[in-house]
Amino acid sequence: MRVPLTTQDFLSRAELVYADRLGIVDEPSQPAPSLGEVSYREVARRGRALQAGLDELGIGEGERVAIVSHNSARLLELLLAVPSSGRVAVPINFRLSQEEVSYIVGHSGARVLLVDPELDSSLKGVEAEHRFGTGEEYEQLLRFDTEPRPWSEPDEDATATINYTSGTTARPKGVQMTHRNLWVNAVTFGMHMQVSDRDVYMHTLPMFHCNGWGLGYTMAGVGATQVVIRKIDGAEILRRVDRHGVTVMAGAPAVWNAVLEAAANWDGEIPGRDRVRIIVAGAAPPSKTIARVEAELGWEFNQIYGLTETAPLLTINRPRAEYEQLDADERAKRLSRAGVPALGTRLQVNESGEVLARSNTVLAGYWQNPDASAEALEDGWFHTGDGGTIDDGGYLTISDRKKDVIITGGENVSSIEVEDVVFSHPAVAEVAVIGIPDEKWGELVTALVVVAEGQQVTEDEIIAHCKARIAGYKAPKRVEFRDELARTATGKIQKFKLRETFWAGSERQIN
Ligand code: AMP
Repeated sequence: MRVPLTTQDFLSRAELVYADRLGIVDEPSQPAPSLGEVSYREVARRGRALQAGLDELGIGEGERVAIVSHNSARLLELLLAVPSSGRVAVPINFRLSQEEVSYIVGHSGARVLLVDPELDSSLKGVEAEHRFGTGEEYEQLLRFDTEPRPWSEPDEDATATINYTSGTTARPKGVQMTHRNLWVNAVTFGMHMQVSDRDVYMHTLPMFHCNGWGLGYTMAGVGATQVVIRKIDGAEILRRVDRHGVTVMAGAPAVWNAVLEAAANWDGEIPGRDRVRIIVAGAAPPSKTIARVEAELGWEFNQIYGLTETAPLLTINRPRAEYEQLDADERAKRLSRAGVPALGTRLQVNESGEVLARSNTVLAGYWQNPDASAEALEDGWFHTGDGGTIDDGGYLTISDRKKDVIITGGENVSSIEVEDVVFSHPAVAEVAVIGIPDEKWGELVTALVVVAEGQQVTEDEIIAHCKARIAGYKAPKRVEFRDELARTATGKIQKFKLRETFWAGSERQIN
């Protein structure tokens, strides 16, 4: 028998088995009216009302519904309900500039756009056929009095979500995730992290980023309560861990650095000691951070590795029973590796040191970009663009990046995109954008600039020029002026040479 693996399963099961359970705890303070505490029965009812509302607007199966929002119950609801009706959810990074959001809405062909009220004025110019705020206007879209039209033929290979991600091209690419991709990721992730209806999950990851690693589906499927947090703040994370009895969270190393900082000034026992398990990825966490999480917070440290293109789960590193005998430093060293393949993942490293993967979580393709899709999936393996090694025990360690991408605070920044913007300043003759090591952000976007003859420009002017054109987190945080940039005989800028001085003494050239 073959039953299609679709995202419908997760919320349907939550409603069937855990109707009275607290499903979502919304952010209490936000510009849109908070939904407060919602049962899974109510989440499912609201999901159907949203589907019926989209029916009324004439949004058909396969059509895209875009949303740009901070974490919220409504965004989570949308990720659960939109694909379940055969439509495609397009969650967009809320930090992007108006021009960047317009590009994504246009490229995805979304006829419906939902915008967080806090972003409404800065994104005024983004046009879509139907545009709603994610507060009262969203509520008016819901139709509780009619049943939605069911998805005519649920198909596991249909596209469920498109997540735009910055890579090696100047424009972001739309990662097409199928229902099957999301299903396999959610279930495998849940198994490896042993989640159950006793867990309380807090969304410390941005939900737009790879659909919050698909964990909203996992948690709904097992009836675990999901707590929304809108802005990352170390002390607030600790308070909510305490208040809601949180047991699981996920995020980039920068999130845990913020928690460690807050914990240092925390009065009394750290909430969640010996209860919380955290899942870390996005960048290789320093082993010092791992040891501190275990010692100062008493939280279990888990690492995964993956990409938006892989839903994301490829590898997992859990503290194994065998690690209990080890001293703290040795344990941290083991846990600083990216991990072993998740069930159903095959990994290899090719002759140039690039990590390749095969898995049911690998993307169908990039939206309307057959060339990029063919390149990423060449020879039947997904090319991660990451450099790594696999040891005898099957543990992968990510050591460098083959692709020209900077990862800062867990978000990808395309060097080429930033170079284009810096270069558009009239006083800039040449520019190279690289990542340099940074305690807080992992890597710091840094522009090395050669000033055009007879021109003058300051670091602040270049940074302001970028901030006016692209998302703030992509703008260089540091600008250094040079007389020339290292080049090959053929004139190509040698980025590895430019990086060298900044990374001297460290084992790898990424953080
Ligand atoms: P994204 O698609 O934005 O989630 O970014 C994926 C990229 O993040 C990967 O290609 C890696 O470069 C990096 N990454 C994710 N997890 C890890 C990890 N555990 N260690 C090192 N780098 C990681």
